[in-house]
Amino acid sequence: MGITGANAIAADTGAVLLVENEGNIRMTSVLPPVHIVYDGIEKIVPTLYHAMTETLVQAAYAGLYPPTYVNLTAGPSSTADVELYRVSPAQGPKEFHMVLVDNGRRRAAKDPVLWEILLCIRCGRCSMHCPTYWAIGPRFGKPPYTGPMGIPWTAVTRGIMEAGPAAMLCTHSGNCKEVCPMGIDLPKLILYVKNEYLKQIMRK
Ligand code: SF4
Repeated sequence: MGITGANAIAADTGAVLLVENEGNIRMTSVLPPVHIVYDGIEKIVPTLYHAMTETLVQAAYAGLYPPTYVNLTAGPSSTADVELYRVSPAQGPKEFHMVLVDNGRRRAAKDPVLWEILLCIRCGRCSMHCPTYWAIGPRFGKPPYTGPMGIPWTAVTRGIMEAGPAAMLCTHSGNCKEVCPMGIDLPKLILYVKNEYLKQIMRK
């Protein structure tokens, strides 16, 4: 069984886009008899065109363009060479399953401030331009979500008290907002987490 995430999921076809340079995702998604995709619901975009665009922007902003591999998976392996209609499975995975995780995301979609982080495509560019991240690396945040985008993401998935200590380390240089391809106002989101965290610890 091969388990991968997804860079984007197209709602119109159920197709999954995965971008990489190493080849490990391609092997994981094609060699085993079962492929399982496990990712958050915010990865769903309306069409295959949107999914491909998001994937290429993510690859470009992560520092390598063009990426070595873009994988599109729209179900178990299939063929139509002889039959002239789709027959499945073929030589690749016989089964394809998708597990979609909420984990605070739908609640965040209704939050007047935190909703904005659901636009994040996880390109990582904000970390590359963050002075705090340069100084202390992934300790700026709480794995798996680190760097500027990690603070609101931790607030969404684990709550304000978990995200607060990292938010207090933010210097508010504003570089993250300048470089974000999605135009996310990260300093505003981090300030919000900071304020909510301070309010909660003052109450104790
Ligand atoms: S917040 Fe913006 S720059 Fe940072 S990872 Fe998300 S999309 Fe990329």
